[in-house]
Amino acid sequence: MTIEDLTSHIEDIKKSLNTELEHVNQKELEKELKKFLEYGVPIEQAKKTIIKKFGGEIIFNNQSNAERTLISKLQPNDQNVNLLCRVITINPKEILVKGENRKIFYGILGDESGTIQFTAWNNIEIEKEDVIEISNAYTREWQGNIQLNFGDRVNIEKTDKNKLPPEAFKPKTVKVNELKSGVGSVDITAVILEIVEREVDVNGEKKKVFSGIIGDETGKSQFTSWFDFKLKKDLPYQITGGYVKSWKGIPQLTFDENSTVKKLNKDTISKDKIITKKIQIHELIEKKGAIDIKVEGTIIDIKEGSGIITRCTQCNRALKDNECTIHGKVEGKTDLRIKSIIDDETGAINTILNKEISEKLLKKTLKDCEKNSQDTMINEIIKKLFAQRVILKGNALSDDFGTTLIAKDADIINIDIKQKSETILQELEELQ
Ligand SMILES: [Zn+2]
Repeated sequence: MTIEDLTSHIEDIKKSLNTELEHVNQKELEKELKKFLEYGVPIEQAKKTIIKKFGGEIIFNNQSNAERTLISKLQPNDQNVNLLCRVITINPKEILVKGENRKIFYGILGDESGTIQFTAWNNIEIEKEDVIEISNAYTREWQGNIQLNFGDRVNIEKTDKNKLPPEAFKPKTVKVNELKSGVGSVDITAVILEIVEREVDVNGEKKKVFSGIIGDETGKSQFTSWFDFKLKKDLPYQITGGYVKSWKGIPQLTFDENSTVKKLNKDTISKDKIITKKIQIHELIEKKGAIDIKVEGTIIDIKEGSGIITRCTQCNRALKDNECTIHGKVEGKTDLRIKSIIDDETGAINTILNKEISEKLLKKTLKDCEKNSQDTMINEIIKKLFAQRVILKGNALSDDFGTTLIAKDADIINIDIKQKSETILQELEELQ
């Protein structure tokens, strides 16, 4: 049993214990539970025994008649989740657990309120387009998104398609800036701005996939098509029945042979209306990332790892004490970067500025920087950039450390403070 699964059982045990028994800690319960499992005691029996031992009362059950939750209402760390939904995608995956191969399944489920990504840690017998009733699943947060998990206690049953309201099968009309994880099946009209074709291996079978960038007047987004719709760059299309998946925290539109793609007249959306949008940081954090956006804010911190760094010549990772975590002791090549935090009064995010942008903002080449010690360099970065107002352009992604903007360009905004304060003084005088 994975740690993931154990956690949900421990939550059950904790709920059944008296609040005065809060001193019984997580680690202790985990140890007890593992001990029982090692001796082959069935999980439900083990839990009941532990609860008795600590003087608790059993309040959990398998809740198969419990009320259904809508996908949009799910929160991280929900226990005993009961859903009525349809299977939008399902894929097997081999993973290595303690040196042993194990087959798990992952995919997307949907109901009338939205969609959610799921992982099944054991074998399950469901197929795409099945309508199912799930009880005793649980949720976790992964890369900033809520995920549904099927552990040992889950119960899944196929049911009648008519049980789900028709809205659950009907795509929702959205604009590009509304594409985010969980929005459900969508109907969208957008221009293909970039497209590349590549071949991938899906369960031993070669498959063509097409990915790139789509846009409309509200923004841009990544997409992946698992079917050859003969999409052409710079043309508008209506894509119906796609869904949003999060990849490395960035939401992207995914569609396949079950979706409908219609080529539209060239003038449906004018390409010059699709520009790089400036967005507020709180919006970026809520969306969990976006591509090709602009953010304006103040640099409120210069982070460790800024300045001159050495990278592995093979994998480009930053070296620590001249060693790469993968390739060991290597020669390495020098590079320059600035890691900082910017704040726009609505929120704060991490940013990474590469060599070219760092050189531009510091008005200094990497070669010039190398002449100084690392300490001198850091001081110079702080002196030149701390508290400066900047405008950054790039892609933002979310992980367990928060949202990070990988800048493709940056400029310092020169606000003439002296002139501004003089104007204010003048205005004040006029008021008197
Ligand atoms: Zn390396």
